[in-house]
Amino acid sequence: MIKFLDLQKINAQYEKELKEASNRVIDSGWYLMGKELNDFEQNYASFCGVKYALGVANGLDALRLIFKAYIELGVMQKGDEVIVPSNTYIASLLAISDNDLIPVLVEPNNETFNLDSRLIENAITSKTKAILTVHLYGQISIDQQMLDICSKYNLKLIEDAAQSHGAQSKGKTSGSIGDAAGHSFYPGKNLGALGDAGAVTTNDKVLANTIDALRNYGSHKKYENEYQGLNSRLDELQAAFLDVKLKHIQQDIKGRRRVANYYLKNIKNQSIILPKVVNEEGHVWHLFVIKTKERDDLQKYLLKNGVQTLIHYPIPPHKQKAYIEYNHLNFPITEQIHNEVLSLPLSAVITGEEIEKVAIILNNYK
Ligand SMILES: *Cc1c(COP(=O)(O)O)cnc(C)c1O
Repeated sequence: MIKFLDLQKINAQYEKELKEASNRVIDSGWYLMGKELNDFEQNYASFCGVKYALGVANGLDALRLIFKAYIELGVMQKGDEVIVPSNTYIASLLAISDNDLIPVLVEPNNETFNLDSRLIENAITSKTKAILTVHLYGQISIDQQMLDICSKYNLKLIEDAAQSHGAQSKGKTSGSIGDAAGHSFYPGKNLGALGDAGAVTTNDKVLANTIDALRNYGSHKKYENEYQGLNSRLDELQAAFLDVKLKHIQQDIKGRRRVANYYLKNIKNQSIILPKVVNEEGHVWHLFVIKTKERDDLQKYLLKNGVQTLIHYPIPPHKQKAYIEYNHLNFPITEQIHNEVLSLPLSAVITGEEIEKVAIILNNYK
């Protein structure tokens, strides 16, 4: 079976360094908010090209904390609206609604899967305070039109950078383009911890300082609480693991591009639409997502032939029970995407033989 993602094989590449890191943390006797976190935060900030990186418990919390901080700072208030793509993982919406802000869904571009800047202005009201844009599948979703809209309406631009570690556009790296960004280090992400982890990046000193307190009970100084904060910390063990994997991420991105370029060149089947690449150098290929009218049938066929695939995602947020108030809305592009997408096996550890086999099997379909 060709696995969709072989995490064991991915982490086995760094076995020695990961075990050294874990021994170091165990022996240190210090497990939260210490040197490992500090080191990783500095290294991750410089990797993204920003002044501040703050480790938190997971990607959802990273986004939640950004909105929470903006509310504490008086930039937003409960009931304000945030524009978010209708074609995203539900965490993007949860981060907004958890803060009693209102997600306003806007359709993606049918080809890139990312928020369609041409549709944003129509969705803006006097309550709109921010755009949460998602760099879906590893490709930057921000264009000049989006930046212009943000300055024209004085909106905060927040990046959901959960799938785009190291992605670039016009010389800027994911997590450094907007006012703030939420990153996830969920094990299956391109930079994956061995458990849950996340980070906020920003160049805004006041925002960074507020989030620094909010992630730790709203406290800058032990037992003095400025805000009603959360407990959302990135522990020393995960920080140490992430620092190991960050050292190898450029190599990992290269490996992903090799696979994606092979698929782009060698999958030739009339019933399959390949993903559209806006800038080839900048895409980090968290997922390689094809579209086909016969998605479910193709997935079964692939499985029968030993190829494991996944669907990202089968049900759009506005059709989820959790957002029952949105169930009546129609987003035809989003719904079509959710009905037609299929993610192929992709990682830096998949072999040349394996991807060759995937392409041949796909080309023999029908
Ligand atoms: C993974 C993901 C998140 C959430 O990250 P967690 O670390 O799992 O909380 C948010 N947004 C997107 C687009 C994601 O893919």
